[in-house]
Amino acid sequence: MNWLRLFGAAGLLLLLGDFVATFGYHVPEHVFGKFHSIVHHSPKRSFVRYAIKNRQPIALIDGFLSAFPYLMFIPILWKLSPWGVGLGLLLAELHVLWRHQFSLTYRTPYWLQKICKALYITTPERHWIHHRYANKAFGDIFAFYGKPAEWWLKQLRLLKRRSQLQ
Ligand SMILES: [Zn+2]
Ligand SMILES: [Zn+2]
Repeated sequence: MNWLRLFGAAGLLLLLGDFVATFGYHVPEHVFGKFHSIVHHSPKRSFVRYAIKNRQPIALIDGFLSAFPYLMFIPILWKLSPWGVGLGLLLAELHVLWRHQFSLTYRTPYWLQKICKALYITTPERHWIHHRYANKAFGDIFAFYGKPAEWWLKQLRLLKRRSQLQ
C-alpha cells in the first residue's frame, strides 16, 4: 500500500470537494436557492424527511447537489488510490455527523480544538455559527474557505440585486 497516495487522495477529495461545495453550491444556495436555507438550516436538516413531509421531491435534488462536489472527484482520484477515495468519503461523512453536534452540552475537547485550529478544520462550535447567522463561518470542513466565501457571498448578492434592477 502506498500511504502517500492513500492520504493524498483522501486529502484531495476533502480539499477539492469542500472548495467546490462551498463556492459552487453552498454560497450560491444562500443567494439564489431555497431549500438549503429552509431545510439544512432548520433543526431537522433532513432533505429526505422534508421532501416526504412537504411533498416536494425537488428538495431531494438539493440534497444530492450538496454531496455531488465530493462525488465528482471520485473518477479522477480513483486512479491515485481507490482506498484513499474510500477514506476521504468516510471522513467527509463522519465530519458531517460530527459538525452537526449542536447539543447544548456538547463541547469539543480542548486537545481536539487545538488540532482543528492548527489544521483549519471546522468544529461543531464553528459550524453552529454558520447555522445561526447564515452569512458567516462558511467552509464546511475547512475554515480557511470562510473568508473568501464571505467575499463570494457579497459578489453574488450584488449580482442578484443588479439583475433584479434590470
Ligand atoms: Zn450544516
Ligand atoms: Zn448554509
